[in-house]
Amino acid sequence: MNNTRIIQLINEFPLLELLIDLQPLSWFNPKVTSYVEALPYVGLTALDVQDASGRLLRFAPFLCQAFPETQERNGIIESPLQAIPLMQAALGKHYQVDLLGRMMIKLDAQLPISGSIKARGGIYEVLQHAEKLAISAGILRVDDDYNKINSPQFKSFFSQYKIAVGSTGNLGLSIGIIGASLGFQVSVHMSADARQWKKDRLRQHGVNVVEYQSDYSVAVEQGREDALQDPFCHFIDDESSTSLFLGYAVAGERLKQQFDEQEILVDAEHPLFVYLPCGVGGGPGGVAFGLKLAFGDHVHCIFAEPTHSPCMLLGVYTGLHDQISVQDLGIDNVTAADGLAVGRASGFIGKAMERMLDGYITLTDADMYQLLGLIHETEQLKLEPSALAGMPGIVHVTNNADYLARMQLDDKLANATHLVWATGGGMVPESEMTAYLQQAKS
Ligand SMILES: *Cc1c(COP(=O)(O)O)cnc(C)c1O
Repeated sequence: MNNTRIIQLINEFPLLELLIDLQPLSWFNPKVTSYVEALPYVGLTALDVQDASGRLLRFAPFLCQAFPETQERNGIIESPLQAIPLMQAALGKHYQVDLLGRMMIKLDAQLPISGSIKARGGIYEVLQHAEKLAISAGILRVDDDYNKINSPQFKSFFSQYKIAVGSTGNLGLSIGIIGASLGFQVSVHMSADARQWKKDRLRQHGVNVVEYQSDYSVAVEQGREDALQDPFCHFIDDESSTSLFLGYAVAGERLKQQFDEQEILVDAEHPLFVYLPCGVGGGPGGVAFGLKLAFGDHVHCIFAEPTHSPCMLLGVYTGLHDQISVQDLGIDNVTAADGLAVGRASGFIGKAMERMLDGYITLTDADMYQLLGLIHETEQLKLEPSALAGMPGIVHVTNNADYLARMQLDDKLANATHLVWATGGGMVPESEMTAYLQQAKS
């Protein structure tokens, strides 16, 4: 993008100046519509999510066997939901604002198998691919006990096939672990910011790790090219996969069930705000879609990004989606938030989901570390920096009178639930976690 075009854009979209200045900010999209009006733009439906949910149910006996840590939930990969009253009090004090309603956290950091939100979409797409291959080969039927997949015969069958993915880390980790356990030959194309321990962990699982000196977009592109040349290779496309999207979306009905179990009301008088850390957009986009199917207009989704990588905000705000990157504005896309270091958003997600997303916030790396320390102190939870991205969302919502009035939410905050989606941290080694906590103190 040339300089004249950038100057034009800044004139047309005043928020860009603050974005370029790396200021933490929020933007609430005035074009958000009702769920019913927004649905046709997604191109997927409740039936597609049900299909994904059914597939995960079929695989549950296999997962129980292959990953004993999933036995507690009978092979369903799901995470805890809990209130965080002490964090809520500390947060209110920290930002000097009276935080009404109830704050809760969705602990995807504790998802079994790979300890991040990628254990939803990433694992789902690999299972879907495996099922398709096995069914076409005539060795599996949907009414079989999928337990049979956990066998040398199936491993040897899948070992003829390859899976490739480009990743900043967590997606590669999820796909590498599940793919290798099924027997696939997996290649993970890792961007320069991917952590060494993630590469080491993958290599221990026999995964081929290809390292790049450049950022996420380049790693994905290389992975895509390599895979295209090989008919036995399935490329998992983090930028536009509907399979990943549907795997994430299953979270909606699961959360609804958890709310029912904990007797937490979500309706017109009891709105639910959900704060989702966003990288390329597939994870939060898919989860938000599932939430809209489960709660309709009573759920309000807000995406959270680092000030150095605000790609989804940029794409939706300018309407340019994947035709603009943060680097076009001179923003460097360098952040400590694993999974969020993405300079160009998924065009699929932005275009499909923009009408269903109330808003976007950004925060600094220093904010993430500080909040990481605060939640460890108050609630004894261990999270990775990106998992904290949604935490200040409640402050932006509470302070934004215009948004609240426009959405007719201003008199409902006392009854609201604010849910922070804590997307990762479960596999972070102890020594790294200690370093995070030290960073939080300094
Ligand atoms: C990948 C990731 C996200 C964001 O998901 P996207 O699909 O890239 O938007 C958020 N948090 C963590 C910890 C992640 O690994």
